[in-house]
Amino acid sequence: MKKCMIIGCGGVASVAIHKCCQNSEVFEGIMIASRTKSKCDALKEKLQPTTKTVIETAQVNADNVDELIALIESYKPDVVLNLALPYQDLTIMDACLATKTHYVDTANYEPLDTAKFEYKWQWAYREKFEKAGITALLGSGFDPGVTGVFSAYAMKHHFDEINYIDILDCNGGDHGYPFATNFNPEINIREVSAKGSYIEDGKWIETEPMEIKRVYDFKGVGEKDMYLLHHEELESLALNIKGIKRIRFFMTFGQSYLTHLKCLENVGMTSIEPIMYEGKEIVPLQFLKAVLPDPASLGPRTVGKTNIGCIFRGKKDGKDKNYYLYKIFDNQECYKEVGSQAISYTTGVPAMIGAMMIITGQWNKAGVYNIEEFDPDPFMEALNKWGLPWEEDFNPVLVD
Ligand code: NDP
Repeated sequence: MKKCMIIGCGGVASVAIHKCCQNSEVFEGIMIASRTKSKCDALKEKLQPTTKTVIETAQVNADNVDELIALIESYKPDVVLNLALPYQDLTIMDACLATKTHYVDTANYEPLDTAKFEYKWQWAYREKFEKAGITALLGSGFDPGVTGVFSAYAMKHHFDEINYIDILDCNGGDHGYPFATNFNPEINIREVSAKGSYIEDGKWIETEPMEIKRVYDFKGVGEKDMYLLHHEELESLALNIKGIKRIRFFMTFGQSYLTHLKCLENVGMTSIEPIMYEGKEIVPLQFLKAVLPDPASLGPRTVGKTNIGCIFRGKKDGKDKNYYLYKIFDNQECYKEVGSQAISYTTGVPAMIGAMMIITGQWNKAGVYNIEEFDPDPFMEALNKWGLPWEEDFNPVLVD
């Protein structure tokens, strides 16, 4: 029996779990293991009557390697899908190593005390995973994730070399709150309040947060302001895609979000430095997370579309070529299907597909790999089949 252990039971995990249950031929058994077991049990109660996949649940503290090892040894999954938070990546990788179990995640490791997104901590496991004969698939969400698969697909089918990549992440969804984040608020705010950066001629160029702004007319959504951010897949794509001269990442933000964020920053609420409050140490950003809406609850109230994709510029047969691969997605459509908003959906589906690639052996090499290092074709096909059909444009409007 093919089994997957899913760690975490938040917004993204909920979608991945729904999708595993729709795909019972591959996922014959799943275990949902998270900090709060009642959330896992509630999902099991909802989904078990609808699926052949046998669902089990467990409580686990994923910061504790021994607890993880004991759970993996008792359930014996073929793959562990890490949908907890980036802070747990290394402990879960350690447990996978100890039990010789394949590993998949959607976000790179980040130490709790420094908001720094880098692959160096996880890439340091390469040799250990190779020796153990197991695979770690890093970044199987949308961005990172599908953006890497799009890049590998563009390289394989459309270019001899890709010189420029612009990743454009447009969220035109409206949840009606003055301020809320569409995935874990702590991780989201750490990401957008950090300095921006991009890679040009092999070097990182750093910018002030939100310093570089462009306006882009997104198909299916319309014209939006977008801002250059640092994003983790820039680091791996610059190494893995042949011919890269520059790679940038832009995300759209509405004025209300930016005004609230500035105000929260100005009063110190986004800080990750602990402070004393009534005799107890608290981290302002973690307190802020506690008062903001839970992203998993945004589904019923979010309307509008997202459009995420990559514009590639490079050469084919000696000629300049431009190519845009993207996915437009409607929030209400995915709410109807799995009760979630689009960001959880567009991350949870590729997470399930990544685990499927490993469990079925379609992607099979020992070591630690970013997603663009595998054959993109079966993943691109699976996106079409499992709810994220993509579109392409051979004459896209470019970003200056
Ligand atoms: P949520 O906060 O909704 O869910 C996180 C889950 O992990 C919760 O169920 C939480 O438990 C559980 N958890 C946290 N700490 C532990 C722990 N120590 N032990 C066990 N379980 C734990 O986050 P999201 O679902 O929004 O995001 C999940 C991941 O997906 C994040 O890493 C995020 O960065 C990534 N992501 C990736 C994207 C991509 O495109 N690549 C896009 C969006 C998100 P509890 O229920 O008790 O809080």
